[in-house]
Amino acid sequence: MALIVRKYGGSSVASLDHIRQVAWAISSARDKGDRIVVVVSAMGGETDRLLKLSEEITPMPSGREQDALLATGEQACSALLAITLESLGHRARSFTGLQLPLVTDNLHTRARIIDLKTDIINRALDEEITPVVAGFQGVSESGNITTLGRGGSDTTAVALAASLKADCCEIYTDVDGVYTADPNICPRARHIEKISYSEMLELAGLGAKVMHVRSIELAQKYQVPLVVKSSFNGERQTWIVNEEEIMENSIIKGVTLEKNVSKISLIRIPDRPGIAYQILEPLADAAINVDMIIQNVSIDGYTDLTFTIPTTDLNKASELVDKVAQKIGALEVKADNNIVKVSAVGIGIKTNPGVAARMFKALSEENINIEMISTSEYRISCVIEEKYGELGVRAVHHAFGLDNTEHTETG
Ligand code: ADP
Ligand code: ASP
Ligand code: MG
Repeated sequence: MALIVRKYGGSSVASLDHIRQVAWAISSARDKGDRIVVVVSAMGGETDRLLKLSEEITPMPSGREQDALLATGEQACSALLAITLESLGHRARSFTGLQLPLVTDNLHTRARIIDLKTDIINRALDEEITPVVAGFQGVSESGNITTLGRGGSDTTAVALAASLKADCCEIYTDVDGVYTADPNICPRARHIEKISYSEMLELAGLGAKVMHVRSIELAQKYQVPLVVKSSFNGERQTWIVNEEEIMENSIIKGVTLEKNVSKISLIRIPDRPGIAYQILEPLADAAINVDMIIQNVSIDGYTDLTFTIPTTDLNKASELVDKVAQKIGALEVKADNNIVKVSAVGIGIKTNPGVAARMFKALSEENINIEMISTSEYRISCVIEEKYGELGVRAVHHAFGLDNTEHTETG
């Protein structure tokens, strides 16, 4: 008898009809003899709806209250699914993060899991009750409700699978697996049957929202067998596995588009030791993740510094940077949220010179200007103007020979 954690994302539970479908799928898995632990996201669109409500009140609500608000989406959905399962004659019980408890640090809206207790889940399973866990949420050591960052229900599911030593963690979503690019923006994207944890980690970290980045970190660390499937079409899936299990390796595994990026530039700052530190330290203290950084060559003892941050942190970051800019006498601070980041990801990058040039050529052939570049062993990223993001992904995807040649345009 296998123990399986099944996670259903927002689109899979978007309406009561969807929730009924999910309940049937769970009941047939149980009838086959598997023990199932369910994790749910909020009903599709609910998290955005709640966020908009709070934004109507203030652009910068406190993290504590934002988390208390957003966690209700998953709580409602877990109860609705448990009610539906019971209405079908199955015993089920919903649990919030607080009830488990799933303990996190105090970093509201992006909390990390510190500890996860599974006693009540095991007790429910022993009594043949299906646990339905509200994903995305936890409780901090100081007793406040926290959330794990957008898309965080995947991480709840993998953490539960690791703690319960489940045989498998199944992620049910609206696509039948991981593709070489988001199939919704690149119709020629190819389905991937198996992808390594390391490559999936890069893809997820660079905008492939099909999996939450921390869920992959956990799955790799605890060696959780992980599979991505569609709730709506059961023919294909993607296994996320160790590198050694993959026979065929292409130079580039996939292309991503990260929309949650903005840049801040400080113009004409004194070029002296400690300046970058003075500017970036307050951001680090506020747990704002600074990604690409460019400093121009110095002229007459002055320079410009530009860096990228998540757009979701732009208000806070601008406030912090404005303060430092005044102190160090910067001429001007410019913020720009009109950008996106296109990245090519693959373990072949470090051993294949010329990959970066191929990406730059693909973008230049579409007349797309590259504003910032960064490279690492596994990826090349270019910041470009937002309006060219999807075109850029398609161009780079094509340039690396990833297009699905069987695809025929149907208009
Ligand atoms: P859920 O609500 O089920 O968690 P998400 O919206 O978070 O679903 O993730 C699924 C979406 O991820 C897909 O609809 C697709 O648009 C997007 N996506 C982005 N990159 C990829 C990729 N490389 N492969 C598959 N899907 C991707
Ligand atoms: N409901 C949350 C979100 O929309 C978490 C999740 O779906 O995983 O980001
Ligand atoms: Mg998701």
